[in-house]
Amino acid sequence: MYAQLSNILLIFIYTTLPIWINEYLQPSTDWIFAAAACISLLAPFIVLPRLHHFYSLLLALFLYLPTWADLGHRLLFDAPLNSSSLTGVIYTTPGEASEFFSAFFNGKILVFTLLTLLWIYIGIFKTRSLASLHLSGLLKAFFLSVTAVSMLHLWASYVIIEYRFIPLQIYLNIRQILQNERDLKAIQTQLGEYNFAPIYSDFKDNTPQTFVIIIGESLHRGHMQLYGYHRPTTPQLSQRDDLLVFANVTAPRAATLSSLNTALSFADSYTFDGSILKGSIIDYFNAAGFTTYWLSNQYQGGYLDNLIALWGSKATHPHFINHDYWGERQAPYDEQLLPHVRQALQDSAPRKLIIIHLMGNHIQYKQRYPESFEHFSGTTDKSQTVAEYDNSVLYNDSIISQILHELEQQGGISYLLYFSDHGQDVSDSPDSCLCHSPEATTPPMLEIPFILWLSPSYIQHRADFLPRARRNLNIPYNTKDFIHSVIDLSNLHNTDYIPNKSIFAPR
Ligand SMILES: [Zn+2]
Repeated sequence: MYAQLSNILLIFIYTTLPIWINEYLQPSTDWIFAAAACISLLAPFIVLPRLHHFYSLLLALFLYLPTWADLGHRLLFDAPLNSSSLTGVIYTTPGEASEFFSAFFNGKILVFTLLTLLWIYIGIFKTRSLASLHLSGLLKAFFLSVTAVSMLHLWASYVIIEYRFIPLQIYLNIRQILQNERDLKAIQTQLGEYNFAPIYSDFKDNTPQTFVIIIGESLHRGHMQLYGYHRPTTPQLSQRDDLLVFANVTAPRAATLSSLNTALSFADSYTFDGSILKGSIIDYFNAAGFTTYWLSNQYQGGYLDNLIALWGSKATHPHFINHDYWGERQAPYDEQLLPHVRQALQDSAPRKLIIIHLMGNHIQYKQRYPESFEHFSGTTDKSQTVAEYDNSVLYNDSIISQILHELEQQGGISYLLYFSDHGQDVSDSPDSCLCHSPEATTPPMLEIPFILWLSPSYIQHRADFLPRARRNLNIPYNTKDFIHSVIDLSNLHNTDYIPNKSIFAPR
């Protein structure tokens, strides 16, 4: 009797433990889901007692393996397993994998893994079949009815479960990543078939040209001193008097990919249609005979979930410094791009386009800047988050200024253009989400900085440009047409270029 009870108890704990762990990790416990899931998971032990070991093994594979991966990720990085990490795991090479293991497989993880394996061994081999229970027909019928109701409940609340049940989330995530790869492969086979019409430059002498574009991340201009913010978040840019600060520029969407896909190509909207495949800003400048650089601190997704990275990889010199599986959370500081920027500037090629894609002011603001930039602080949780965002703006100011300083030393025809992919809704007010979201977009998520510096040689070689740029400082402009502005600014033209779509257009 005692042996039978302890066997039932062991089966119960083995089967339902991942459910309880999941509930523990959620902000609040869903008792109805937990009960329904426990009953449904236990049912096969009673209905199909002969498949006892096999079913225990299935539980190990489909519940324990993802739970182990998620908990292990939390132990290592203090964060749940996310799609960036999963992408890393799926597309890792043996070399990277062994590097990863030697760097992170510490004692804590080893003990945790051994305990998990021991527990799974006990669950599979030390529990006994419930065939000997000989439940009466009535009891069996009752149990089956309860199971049916539980399963119905799970089915009806699938959307909620998908959102909060970690093992299921991990499998759905993997499915999505593989789907993204198939989508992108389909696009990749079509990329590069488009030929631009001949591209001409109106700079007529042989003065070297160095064009620098910095793509910021999640920066709302309302948090920049340069745009009138009350905190001194851009002390270095603010003290310059040679910047053209455009006051009225918005992003097409409040998300990185959908915003940049249109800004950096001839596409008018975020759809995977022919216009996106017409090639990107990198293709265009390659075709125009430029030496192109793509220096990025954004997660590359192995080129696989990221059209922007795919475009960037077609530069003459692509460098992605953020190889971390855990994506933006543990991204290097943007200053680690600076040696690459210096190298690009020293390249003796006569015509260069250098695009720098920052991690900028992406969420987890505190992870974006070193301690020496911890300048502002708040008194409440929310005002502290705002302060951390402002610290990241302060750091961003120093990164842009350092790049501008290096560029100034170069001489020649050059410009530096900074804009942000989209903004961010960060304020102390109760309705600010401290986020950006294409589903619930607010004005701060679209209001972006757009800042231009022109070298003295540029101004001298193109007398009409500065006055017309100055005239347009306040015009409303959406960066979905960004590529036309860049072509104009670079003094290039061909039939793909539509002059009226440039922010600098005379009008
Ligand atoms: Zn973004």
